[in-house]
Amino acid sequence: MDHFEYRNGSLFCEQVAVADIVAEVGTPAYIYSSATLLHHYNAIADAFGELNPTICYSIKSLANVNILKLLSSAGCSFDVTSGGELARALVAGGDASKIVFAGVGKTDRELSDALTAGIGVFNIESEAEFENLSRLAAQAGANPHAALRLNPDVYDPKTHTYTATGKKETKFGVDIERAERFFDAYGSDPNVVLDGIHLHIGSPIYSAQPYVEAIKKTLTLIERLKGKRFEVRTLDIGGGFAADYETGASPEASEYAAAIVPLLKDTGLAVILEPGRQISCNSGILATQVQYVKTGGEKNFVIVDAAMTDLFRPALYGSEHFVYPASIAPDADPPERKAGFTAPDGTKVDVVGGVCEGSDFLAKDRVLPPISRGDLMIVFSAGAYGFVMSSQYNSRPRSVEVLVEGAEYRIIRRRETYEDTYAAELDV
Ligand SMILES: *Cc1c(COP(=O)(O)O)cnc(C)c1O
Repeated sequence: MDHFEYRNGSLFCEQVAVADIVAEVGTPAYIYSSATLLHHYNAIADAFGELNPTICYSIKSLANVNILKLLSSAGCSFDVTSGGELARALVAGGDASKIVFAGVGKTDRELSDALTAGIGVFNIESEAEFENLSRLAAQAGANPHAALRLNPDVYDPKTHTYTATGKKETKFGVDIERAERFFDAYGSDPNVVLDGIHLHIGSPIYSAQPYVEAIKKTLTLIERLKGKRFEVRTLDIGGGFAADYETGASPEASEYAAAIVPLLKDTGLAVILEPGRQISCNSGILATQVQYVKTGGEKNFVIVDAAMTDLFRPALYGSEHFVYPASIAPDADPPERKAGFTAPDGTKVDVVGGVCEGSDFLAKDRVLPPISRGDLMIVFSAGAYGFVMSSQYNSRPRSVEVLVEGAEYRIIRRRETYEDTYAAELDV
């Protein structure tokens, strides 16, 4: 569900025509809908309401400070994976005591900064990391809470191998047997209160079943730990809730909740969720202008001014985003957002960027309506892992980001200039 729709053949974001925004800010442009962000946040908050969970939006999926402010003012908290994300969360007015900090490689500086900020929970991935946190906490005179990241050995076969983090052989967390030994060793640490379990089994996870399996295994572990007098107070079930890259292809928050809430509602556990893409994915599009149409060879190409530097997911994971012109015939039916959608009278094309890499494509083998130089193309469902993964490779300035609220819009990150791409190299 989102607030991007064709009206009389022209794509609108809420009450604003995308073409009007682009006429002012240029292309490529990331355009976000605040109503869509809040809709998805509220859908999760409502669906899991019975558990009164702390919802920690995963900043890494879409990190703009102005987006974080919007979510924070709606009552959302944050999941951070680095010192940089922690800094953003705090600048956005996030309540430090409700922030959770994940990541396998936290540095001393990152841990110390998080101790100083007084964050809520450190999600711990290894024995070595726990010992380091304990040492730094003692130095700082702090007494933080920690949750052990558990690797419950479940996975969703539809999740890409790079993002399936809940299997035994990944670098994330520790397995169940090792978790028990972990509590034996550190459950009574004088500096760090180890009283939580953290799960994040991968993303996206296209059904509730892997969560159910993971939570059941975890509850058994929590019982065993209780028998040893280790009290587990918080259970963080992570993120990975899918988003609709294709219309109707993913469960709604309420479907996940229907399976998960009954397992947890009588446990007395304080529940934390870390949704990222389910909030941000469909809240954003990438608007890009066609530079050239290249036909006559083995393949047809639509070459646009956005590239893998703006949206890395297709090159990195082979992800499929629905791509379509912003303007269609006024009486045409709006396209169905499916990767395999075939336009009437269309030609098969690859939509590619201008970077010198064979992997620089945004979409492959799509049947699109006739496209001409200058047309505005839209990459849908680009809010999550879009702008945040952009780079300046080929000295390409990063794109502008725009936030729409009803009939208004504003730039929330200016387009970078050429000077931005080399400024840190001058005067050194
Ligand atoms: C990436 C990540 C998330 C968010 O994943 P989504 O698929 O965007 O929901 C949540 N928790 C942790 C620990 C992560 O690494």
